[in-house]
Amino acid sequence: MKVLVVGAGISGATVANLASRTARVEVIDSRGTVGGNCYDYRDVNGIMVHRYGSHILHTSDGEVWGFLSRFASFNTYMHRVMAMVEGMEVPIPFNFNSIRKVFPETLAERIESKLLSSGRYGDRIPIMEFLSQDDEDLRFLAEYIYEHIFRHYTEKQWGTEPSNVDGAVTARVPVRLSCDDRYFQDRYQGIPVNGYTDMIRRMLSAPGIELRLNTPFSSVGDVGRYDHIFYTGPVDELMGYRFGPLPYRSLRFEFEEYDMEHYQDNAVVNYPDNYDFTRIHEFKYYLRDRSERTVICKEYPEEFAPGSNERYYPVPSETSGELYAKYRRAAEDEYPNLRLLGRLGDYRYYDMDEAVARAMEVWRSASAGDRKPQAGMMWS
Ligand SMILES: Cc1cc2nc3c(=O)[nH]c(=O)nc-3n(C[C@H](O)[C@H](O)[C@H](O)COP(=O)(O)OP(=O)(O)OC[C@H]3O[C@@H](n4cnc5c(N)ncnc54)[C@H](O)[C@@H]3O)c2cc1C
Repeated sequence: MKVLVVGAGISGATVANLASRTARVEVIDSRGTVGGNCYDYRDVNGIMVHRYGSHILHTSDGEVWGFLSRFASFNTYMHRVMAMVEGMEVPIPFNFNSIRKVFPETLAERIESKLLSSGRYGDRIPIMEFLSQDDEDLRFLAEYIYEHIFRHYTEKQWGTEPSNVDGAVTARVPVRLSCDDRYFQDRYQGIPVNGYTDMIRRMLSAPGIELRLNTPFSSVGDVGRYDHIFYTGPVDELMGYRFGPLPYRSLRFEFEEYDMEHYQDNAVVNYPDNYDFTRIHEFKYYLRDRSERTVICKEYPEEFAPGSNERYYPVPSETSGELYAKYRRAAEDEYPNLRLLGRLGDYRYYDMDEAVARAMEVWRSASAGDRKPQAGMMWS
């Protein structure tokens, strides 16, 4: 069996590694590096820099964790995010520690006990549920979070008023009924001690895999010679933008280096209200890199324009869903041996573990001889 995998990101590397057990696999990527958006590198100071913004692996999927652990050792890093709110660094998602930090003691205690009578300790409750409540204190809390954490951040991130953003995004803003200020609660969390690029390179170094970088799909020639093509690139580009480009939000990462041990007290600090960037990443926290210098990165959301910047976040809406479905059908008609996957192929935001799980599912379906995998996605 001959397999072509387009894209050497975590989706492509997963499917290539699984396929290499029974097939001859060629992997191509238009970039000069493996890793896709998980790409990281050690800079001149020995600091592991995440080129496309902070990446933390977190999953409760034992199969995904077990698979990735064959190619990397993970440290026990637990991610915490601070938001600069009225000049104070406050843990987010909002939890009891955040409430005690921003409100006077008596108000904080009253809010906590009211929260505990509307849910169990440890629950995550979407703030939208409190916005429509009669209780004055809970409404005040929800309005405070909406105004100081959510509204301006969302405007910067999506370039529009929150009311124009898909309800699925707003519905997710929670308050957590506990003092647990970790950003993720998954069973498995960590950073690969030799980096994501190394992990993905190992996935791609299985016998039977041939890797060609700086090789776009358009240069492949006769695609009919492959039994299967797994395509992790953008489907609108694949189909020549014949129905117009799929909408995305992009990001600009500006890196700065400082002659100091630390720039900030945490790996990620969000700036919901101030400045044009949404957050600052300081990478040396992830692997506890020792250096007298530090490197940070300011993340600026911006419009996506094909050819001038990168695609990061699909813009969920009914219209973009329909456009994607049209492209998917056209791609399936034109390339009967091609399967779409990955954050670009599926036009869906995936965390790394979801990208790996999806690649496993697509490979299983292909090797079982199903003609086409179900998208199983938000658009299907
Ligand atoms: C700012 C940011 C932070 C994130 N942080 C986290 C996090 O903390 N934890 C987490 O789990 N996830 C995080 N993610 C998500 C993570 O980046 C994705 O899950 C992951 O990159 C998806 O991998 P992929 O292989 O599907 O896509 P990609 O990484 O984009 O890989 C696709 C590859 O295909 C190649 N390609 C595209 N078109 C072609 C073509 N025509 N020919 C040849 N090659 C092509 C590209 O060059 C690329 O290398 C974050 C995402 C963003 C945007």
